[in-house]
Amino acid sequence: MKRGSLVEAPEVERGVNVPQSYRLVRRDARAGRTVVRLAGGATFGGDEIAICAGPCGVESAEQLDAAARAVSRSGANVLRGGAYKPRTSPYSFQGLGEDALKMLRDCGDRYGIAVVTEVMDPRDVEVVARHADMLQIGTRNMQNFPLLREVGAASKPVLLKRGISATVQEWLLAAEYLLLGGNENVVLCERGVRSFDVATRNLLDIGVVPLLEELTHLPVIVDPSHAVGIARLVPALAMASVAAGAHGLLIEVHPDPRNALSDGAQSLDCDQFDDLVRRLAPIAALVGRRLPARPQPG
Ligand code: PEP
Ligand code: MN
Repeated sequence: MKRGSLVEAPEVERGVNVPQSYRLVRRDARAGRTVVRLAGGATFGGDEIAICAGPCGVESAEQLDAAARAVSRSGANVLRGGAYKPRTSPYSFQGLGEDALKMLRDCGDRYGIAVVTEVMDPRDVEVVARHADMLQIGTRNMQNFPLLREVGAASKPVLLKRGISATVQEWLLAAEYLLLGGNENVVLCERGVRSFDVATRNLLDIGVVPLLEELTHLPVIVDPSHAVGIARLVPALAMASVAAGAHGLLIEVHPDPRNALSDGAQSLDCDQFDDLVRRLAPIAALVGRRLPARPQPG
């Protein structure tokens, strides 16, 4: 039937042009919501929120161990840490590569928590997937299409950060690449967008949290650390994110932020992180969610 004749049929009240858009990630593409589960029990998208925490970059076995021990005791259920760092300057710390992946795996196993780490290069997807439980695609690579295709074909869940200036439509279409490639375990991460104002590092778009709840069945988490860029402001944004309905948080925590090789200014120390997790519990309860259980001391 020709398009014109369908719209003109007496039974049709009006025609709506549906653009070629995201199909697999849209809210009504499936009956329920996607719940992404990681080895070790962390879930994104259910009643329990995921707490991902750890240093920006893996700097040494000692630094990572101290961070992993502290964040797991405080109730984090996913350890983060960069092995391949996307740095603005080629002279900045670039990450320890595969050595860091092995340290992450060791710490994840020792403290019983899952591991998420960034993959920047399609050629590294295999090695990162061998060591990590979740593959992070960073803001700078949200539209790296060869990377999206490679990660779409991988068997590990994905944390897809919002591009630094990406619209919601572009972000969802990036997620669409992953689902189209066969990888359905995708979590979106709002990490702030670039704005006119340099008073904070980026501008946290808290409105996308409830908006994405309407637009997609995929879980959404918030990274307040990269959004605001100032450690003392991170707790307020973390609490606001949970109140807005985020399915998890990604927080940078360093045992000695002043001497961090990257992102020290936005990293909480271990005590500040512990204090934040305690303050999050009642807020999660208010919105019908709960935090991961804190491990029993001993
Ligand atoms: C990170 O998580 O350390 C990171 C580099 O994040 P983003 O891609 O959001 O800048
Ligand atoms: Mn960082």
